[in-house]
Amino acid sequence: MRKEDTDMTVVSKAKLKPGVVTGKEYQTLVQACKEGGYTLPAVNVVGTNSINAVLEAARKNNSDVIIQLSNGGAEFYAGKGFPDSFQAKVLGAVSAAKHVHLMAQHYGVCVVMHTDHANKKLIPWVEALLNHSEQYFRETGRPLFSSHMLDLSEEPLEENLSECARILKRAAAMDISIEIELGITGGEEDGVGSDDDALDNPSLYTQPQDVLQAYELLSPLGHFSVAASFGNVHGVYAPGNVKLRPEILKNSQDLVQATHKTGPKPLNLVFHGGSGSEQSKIEEAMSYGVFKMNIDTDLQFAFAHEIGEYVKKNPKAFQYQIDPETQTPYKKIYDPRKWLRAGEEGMINRLDEAFRVLQSVGKSLAQ
Ligand SMILES: [Zn+2]
Repeated sequence: MRKEDTDMTVVSKAKLKPGVVTGKEYQTLVQACKEGGYTLPAVNVVGTNSINAVLEAARKNNSDVIIQLSNGGAEFYAGKGFPDSFQAKVLGAVSAAKHVHLMAQHYGVCVVMHTDHANKKLIPWVEALLNHSEQYFRETGRPLFSSHMLDLSEEPLEENLSECARILKRAAAMDISIEIELGITGGEEDGVGSDDDALDNPSLYTQPQDVLQAYELLSPLGHFSVAASFGNVHGVYAPGNVKLRPEILKNSQDLVQATHKTGPKPLNLVFHGGSGSEQSKIEEAMSYGVFKMNIDTDLQFAFAHEIGEYVKKNPKAFQYQIDPETQTPYKKIYDPRKWLRAGEEGMINRLDEAFRVLQSVGKSLAQ
């Protein structure tokens, strides 16, 4: 993010072409979220079923949306039987991005195409995706992805930031943004426990001073967003285990604004591990400039739950092609288009709720 991009001006009435947004269009969308006080759900996808469900739900709610792939989701997209696991992570992500580029414009919403957590081991994955974007950029003038996440929060701060700077230089040259992580988000996905003493552990809470340091190093290089830890955890835990302190986000914004005399909310903030959070804390976080909230666990459950209900309602169709007693053929019921559609509908219904809670309904910039 260059200095002029941080000023809270212009964009509230901006309109964009539907489809994957990158570069300036992506920045316009981020800014519109922060100015408008709303947040876009970022949904982890694993195949065309989940991608199309997200696009359908976004269109239905007239909201823009963020589609993201974890390295595991990308690998699954390429196929579990693909012979080379690293290649599968790369080609699966490229294939998914191309599907979204083609389809999103016809669904009529703006879509941010993003990759999720990449720790130190997975930096080569991100770099391979940048290679693919370079080729796509030469062919079309656009990158494949709007942004990539680099999660080097387990490394010392200096190393985290210098590696982010190195990648951002390369990414920014083709209009790609990055998301960085400062402080460690707890929970299953990262293999970081959520112990009772977590509240006393300063590494679980991002320090505003560190965010300022990131801003000073990265903002001259390109556009970036920050996943800050404020007590959030991945996955769903029993009530009371998630003790959010969104004021950490506000303190970070205020420190950067005061130090560099920027407009309000100079940072682009991301909320990880939001599943199961109290609505009042979500709203508070949103008001501090959170433009992206990751939703994975709840949507996995929504997809699985509806398929489970479908199977419960039609148990025989999952055991017999033709009913052994009545001779009824069950082809119309076991057709994967029926039960996969049930899963998609489960996701769409849960996304309706997400768009509502995140207050993005009716706010698509697509025209
Ligand atoms: Zn995360």
